[in-house]
Amino acid sequence: MLCPHCNVKLPRNAKYCFRCGYLLFSDDVLNYGDTLEYKLIGIYLPDNKISFNLHNISLGYLLFNFSYAFYKKQYYIGVISFFSSLYFFKLFLGGFGAIFQGLGFFALFYIFSFMLCAFIILYYVFKFNELYLANVKYRVNKIIKNHPSEDYESLSVICKKDSRNCLLLALLSIFLFLFLAF
Ligand SMILES: [Zn+2]
Repeated sequence: MLCPHCNVKLPRNAKYCFRCGYLLFSDDVLNYGDTLEYKLIGIYLPDNKISFNLHNISLGYLLFNFSYAFYKKQYYIGVISFFSSLYFFKLFLGGFGAIFQGLGFFALFYIFSFMLCAFIILYYVFKFNELYLANVKYRVNKIIKNHPSEDYESLSVICKKDSRNCLLLALLSIFLFLFLAF
């Protein structure tokens, strides 16, 4: 499978191009040509592109973690990442003392939860774009379903409004993190 946009070779069933971020629609969407969903996703994500990606890594999530998830209005990823990062950070700062003091069971518990948090963060670094894309498709279809009598123009206005990022929530989450971390 080749990216129609930049011709890079992609694995089968890829959902977007790892190089240029271009969205790849399933055959049934493409076979029906310019379907409503296809066009509205192009409004939700300008030019049908996922921004800020490097290979299949979300650069935004890698750099800004939970605040990027909140910025993109991916709330549950934001909440999970927030607590994972907080715990990770706290253990990194001070909790490690317990591990080396020979606390047995608690040391194991700390190590295990530290690794779990690291795994969750790493998981989202690689999966964020895909989950975000799935969420965008879900949102667009919900908008179509909830406004059956609207025409394309007003649907695209709704999609554009819905696709706005939320800087305020991102900043609030950073303040809350700093407040809880120190
Ligand atoms: Zn491409």
